[in-house]
Amino acid sequence: LEKFKIGLVVGHTKLLPVAHGCSPLNQYEYHYNSELAKIVSGVLISNGSECRIFLRDLLTLRETYYEVNKYQPKVVVELHFNAANEKARGTETLYGDQNPRSGELAKCVHDQLCLSLMRDAKLNRGIKLLGERDRGYSNVNLAKCPSILTEPFFGDQKDDAKLAIEKKEDIANAIANGILEFLLGG
Ligand SMILES: [Zn+2]
Repeated sequence: LEKFKIGLVVGHTKLLPVAHGCSPLNQYEYHYNSELAKIVSGVLISNGSECRIFLRDLLTLRETYYEVNKYQPKVVVELHFNAANEKARGTETLYGDQNPRSGELAKCVHDQLCLSLMRDAKLNRGIKLLGERDRGYSNVNLAKCPSILTEPFFGDQKDDAKLAIEKKEDIANAIANGILEFLLGG
């Protein structure tokens, strides 16, 4: 069995951890996703894959993805969560057009996330192909492999913040399973 190399990028930095989750999450994206990355990595490794976690601290985005590309992963997933002034909730998964198979990876991971969080049609916000003017466009277009960005929930919305805590293991499993499904299916 081929040993797949998988890259995980933790969104944002310690100095600028960005979106803050409300109670009961009470965590910034960077901190939540640093922990999530370790769980995802554990699941992938226990399934026979290789995995490396990349932090963006003290690096530009371009430098981060230069490091990712040096590792030569089969896929890369950048971990985030959403925020919209408590006005929205749901799951979305973003991808770029730099690699023709990014959409397929997005769909595999997104479907697993929606399943694990039991998202109905309204809270399943779908996979989104980013255009050059969209925030996150560079994040999903700098890797030389299929590349996506996950936004499993809105951290500043109380019901989603609750899911973020209660379903943390499930979210991690969903991301790992989606990646493996993509790699084994293709
Ligand atoms: Zn973010």
